[in-house]
Amino acid sequence: DLERLDQMRRDFIANASHELRTPLTVINGFLEIAANQPELDEPTRSCHMKLMVEQGQRMQHLVEDMLVLTRLESMDYPLREEVINVRELLQNIEAEANALSGGRHQISLVIEGPDLRGNTEELRSAIGNLVSNAVRYTPDGGQVEIRWFETQQGPCCTVSDTGIGISHEHLSRLTERFYRVDKSRSRETKGTGLGLAIVKHVLMRHDAQLQIQSEEGKGSRFTIQFPRSAMVLDQS
Ligand code: ADP
Repeated sequence: DLERLDQMRRDFIANASHELRTPLTVINGFLEIAANQPELDEPTRSCHMKLMVEQGQRMQHLVEDMLVLTRLESMDYPLREEVINVRELLQNIEAEANALSGGRHQISLVIEGPDLRGNTEELRSAIGNLVSNAVRYTPDGGQVEIRWFETQQGPCCTVSDTGIGISHEHLSRLTERFYRVDKSRSRETKGTGLGLAIVKHVLMRHDAQLQIQSEEGKGSRFTIQFPRSAMVLDQS
């Protein structure tokens, strides 16, 4: 087990360095041009600037996601539980999804289940990641649905899309850090490759399970099943 953990740590450092090196190389390249060619024309200069800003943002997202993961994994960071206003949380996530989609998708929200005990910010991050993936991996004109309901086992959240889907052999590896089915699509849509690893950790801390159903070319459904003990009974 120790050997396996050590290997995982080495892989993580290698992957993280690799992910950071690419944008850094781009930024350094443009900075060198700027330093060596002060007479560069304005349109070219502003194009270089734009690309550097994009790559800088990419590094920032990556470092932020790595910090979130580190914090989630640290033992001395216990879960701070509260009663979550699920309606407000999901409406905020829906609004963010609409902003990300920019009207290119039909996004719907159905809330039928009870409130929940858990950590609002962590679940905002987990469910927000699933919804942002649904938008990012669904071509224009597609549909995304967020649904909150109750099953026999407890409260349940599904995020479904009519997007590109995932073929079966990838499903078991999706929550690994930096695992991507299609690297270029992930990067084009500003993915860090850490979203589902964050989801997995948040759900573990909430004793919840993640289930993934998907069919290539048809779409995906990510289901979060919370335990009955997390349910908040109607207090009104
Ligand atoms: P990324 O930042 O690359 O999106 P994630 O950890 O969130 O990283 O997801 C890992 C990979 O799982 C993605 O790169 C993508 O290949 C696949 N994936 C995640 N969600 C979906 C989805 N809704 N539809 C199709 N593929 C998905």
